[in-house]
Amino acid sequence: MDAKELMKIARKARQNAYAPYSHFAVGAALLAESGRVYTGCNIENASYGLTCCAERNAIFAAVGAGERRFKMLAVAADSPEPVAPCGACRQVIAEFGIPIVVMGNLKEAIKTMSAEELLPYGFGQESMNNKGEK
Ligand SMILES: [Zn+2]
Repeated sequence: MDAKELMKIARKARQNAYAPYSHFAVGAALLAESGRVYTGCNIENASYGLTCCAERNAIFAAVGAGERRFKMLAVAADSPEPVAPCGACRQVIAEFGIPIVVMGNLKEAIKTMSAEELLPYGFGQESMNNKGEK
């Protein structure tokens, strides 16, 4: 599967977005090393802080299904330029080592970046003195 195919799936996943407040629907598709693709859309809430992005919903669905290794994540929205993941999603993308992020809109525009480019100097397990131990 290439970036364009994964982007097509992300655009389709966008149709399931629940965005009655922002009216900004986003879709994501995550290709795992297993070959399976997990999708997500943004899901908002009247209590705005509970809203979760398409990218994190896709990643959490994959991790919840037992996946740990990933090849590529695509994200799509109806934006003038290819849509970029928010800071919170960049942190989660880094946590799971997703190497390639493909950003797109509903037109043909696609932009591809590495997780490292999206989140330089990110926080990780190695940032903690205790390495996660108690
Ligand atoms: Zn986000």
